[in-house]
Amino acid sequence: MTPMMRQYHEAKDACGDALLFFRMGDFYELFLDDAKVAAKILGLTLTSRDKDSENPTAMAGFPHHQLDSYLHKLIQAGFRAAVCEQVEDPKKAKGLVKREITRVVSAGTLTDDGLLDPRQANYVASVYVLHDKKAAKSGAAPQVGIAWAELSSGRFEAGTFPKSRIEDELERIGPAEVIYREDDAHFSPDTTATWSWTSRPAWSFAQDAAREALCKQFSVHNLEGFGFGDDDAPAIRAAGGVLTYLQETQRGGLDHFRTLTSHRKTPVLQIDASTRRSLEITRTLRTASREGSLLDVIDETCSPMGSRLLADWIAAPLVDPAAIGMRHDAVAELSGDQSLRTDVRSTLRDTYDLSRLLARLATGRTGPRDLQQVATTLAGLPKLKARLTQRNADRLQSIEQHLHLCPELRSQLDAALADECPLNAGDGNFIRVGFDEELDELRELARGGKQWIAAYQQKQMDETGITNLKVGYNRVFGYFLEVSNAQKDKVPDFFIRKQTLKNAERYITPELKEYEEKVLEADEKAASREQLIFQDLRAKTHRQLSTLQEVAAAMAELDVLAALGELAAVRGWVRPELTDDSVLKIEAGRHPVLDVTLPQGEFVPNDCVMSPDGGMIHLITGPNMAGKSTYIRQIALITLLAQAGSYVPAKNAVIGVADRIFARVGASDELSRGQSTFMVEMVETARILNTATSRSLVILDEIGRGTSTYDGLSLAWAITEHLHEQIGCRTLFATHYHELTQLEESLPRVANMNVAVKEWDEQVVFLHRIVAGGADKSYGIHVARLAGIPASVNERAKDVLAQLESDHRDAFDRPTVAPPKENGSNNYQLTLFGYADHPLIDEMQKLDVNSMTPIEAMQFLQQAQEQL
Ligand code: ADP
Repeated sequence: MTPMMRQYHEAKDACGDALLFFRMGDFYELFLDDAKVAAKILGLTLTSRDKDSENPTAMAGFPHHQLDSYLHKLIQAGFRAAVCEQVEDPKKAKGLVKREITRVVSAGTLTDDGLLDPRQANYVASVYVLHDKKAAKSGAAPQVGIAWAELSSGRFEAGTFPKSRIEDELERIGPAEVIYREDDAHFSPDTTATWSWTSRPAWSFAQDAAREALCKQFSVHNLEGFGFGDDDAPAIRAAGGVLTYLQETQRGGLDHFRTLTSHRKTPVLQIDASTRRSLEITRTLRTASREGSLLDVIDETCSPMGSRLLADWIAAPLVDPAAIGMRHDAVAELSGDQSLRTDVRSTLRDTYDLSRLLARLATGRTGPRDLQQVATTLAGLPKLKARLTQRNADRLQSIEQHLHLCPELRSQLDAALADECPLNAGDGNFIRVGFDEELDELRELARGGKQWIAAYQQKQMDETGITNLKVGYNRVFGYFLEVSNAQKDKVPDFFIRKQTLKNAERYITPELKEYEEKVLEADEKAASREQLIFQDLRAKTHRQLSTLQEVAAAMAELDVLAALGELAAVRGWVRPELTDDSVLKIEAGRHPVLDVTLPQGEFVPNDCVMSPDGGMIHLITGPNMAGKSTYIRQIALITLLAQAGSYVPAKNAVIGVADRIFARVGASDELSRGQSTFMVEMVETARILNTATSRSLVILDEIGRGTSTYDGLSLAWAITEHLHEQIGCRTLFATHYHELTQLEESLPRVANMNVAVKEWDEQVVFLHRIVAGGADKSYGIHVARLAGIPASVNERAKDVLAQLESDHRDAFDRPTVAPPKENGSNNYQLTLFGYADHPLIDEMQKLDVNSMTPIEAMQFLQQAQEQL
């Protein structure tokens, strides 16, 4: 094996299952199996290194400047990559160039601007399931620790949750990559998830190791100060797992990770994974893209930091009315003052993504242009701060206090950095002339030397008469004089020949060499002087890291609040009133997404009034395509927006804060997961029935569709009763089972609603208006006609419908429910198709069988038979 291949194998052994990108000169090369994988995924040509040997080494490579795009492709395909760089100058290396893995890149540990979506947080999360045998024996629910960190901003959170919530929490976080303990008998990753999974050794989740790693990172003795108590072991283990993973993959500073936030500190609105998907909060169901989601239509932020924070807010709305009110206060002030809003927003637009700039600083990847962007961002702060003084809203005052101007740092950066700065410090020439005397002198010297060389060329031409004499430079010979063959005989003796080309000869002279040395030395000194200044600037900025992180957080929040203010002002949204009561009073509410995607003025607003003493369960019947789903989703989205701190699309809204929102709508997304529609529907419904509280908001769309009509109807019926009697939460239930409307008679808090429809000349016009009362017709056949089902099929369907309706009229006309038992056990018996209200039953109940003679009994039976 050659020494280089030995070096390769050492690196390869150290990078686990990541593909190794091995830097060789201007190329990155992959070898052996890595080369084969890369050839397939990246479309590289597969060659071999030692073609003539018995076992040629497979190899594939690409020019170094294409690294970003190939990394991106590989990561998208679910791989990890280790980048092994040449860490010394090949010119100066004695023997083999030293190489080191400088970073390992995976979906969750990206920091490169080119690979990240600026509007989206890029989290690596970790799950750690605690196997506590003692707790399991005592019947305690198993727990899971979940931690999530963003390398590109330093955000780091962890929490302990019931194990059943893994999917819900991960869906809320929306990570790019999730790590988990290898060989975990109690947990296996869901391979259909949108994130990639990486297994990690068990030791990295060990309790003591995790705690120690975290304490060391934050320079603290224990984690109690961050709000983690004894019962948070799973959270700590998960966080330790993430931290060691980041340390291993980054090899560089993680200084921007300054705290671990306890998820428990801020209670949030609970939204399970399928509700989150159904409501299309941050991505749409069908394409899983941001476009068309709630977030997409409300994102009026003007900075990537704001955009990411808005996504956080909308993914985890609050439940504390006071905290929500504080956001609303700030939005009110910003939406009511256009000049304030415009100034704030235009200033924010001129700033850069400070949070990600700081992360690059901490991970040692800052270049001159990054520092320049920090300076430009700092330059915007005085204006923002001035605009925020003497504001009423609490949040705005707090933001104002956190916009630290850092004047010294700013003036140093401004003074030092040139107007145009390169990305990489190695490119040089980015320190402003006049900033550093020594640098200026060295640059002058180098320039002087170059001028001398130009003059020397002229002098030699004049003296020798060689008209095409040229001065050139290359790395091997340094400066030389080039003379074409035609004039070779005019070359004087003191020219020392160095190289013969096809058409020319190259020479040096002692004089030229002397100046060359001066020039090169000055150039080199200037370059290293420049690096020194750069390092100093970088260190100075780094010293302000935590101050600047506060600034970044304040800017992001200001951007979100101003964006919500803009939304409120431009779209005419109103401030919702939040209460602790379980009520909903929405006047002229609109669906936030459809309201902007439908042509203007086409969306029909609707009211919704729910309260414990009135309708808590709204049964909404009406034909398909009438607008039932839209309506019930709209109520859920308005509630969610209100609790996130936003104004809402309505004329007036009173929202009782919900602790959870459940949406059981459509099952299309779940089908791909290999479960039957009906099973999925029932699993989700079971979850609602088991976890909803009286403060929850439940929306149900067409429950029971995945089974036979009778089955479905019976289930829907029983579910409604349970929600009414046992849970008592606000529920909107869209259904095409007209029979359910009869529940209004027996259950006091059920209210029937339907979607107004106008029939005209056998045509159906949907008015999309929700009105009180049950619908009494199914318009499915009309919709089928609208959709282009042939007329003959439609006619036939009408006949069949008439037939079916007359066949089943009796059964459906008399579903009955026995009244709740007096003892309050609410043990409802569903005798859906029985005859509980038949007059005979009354009569039978009145009989005193003990005092009847056999003859009397016989007579009763005979009469009864006649009545049937
Ligand atoms: P359903 O659930 O009753 O089958 P949808 O809620 O899916 O009906 O609505 C069907 C279509 O009707 C929507 O895609 C939308 O274009 C339109 N629509 C629904 N509600 C409204 C409304 N309030 N105003 C205007 N158009 C609406």
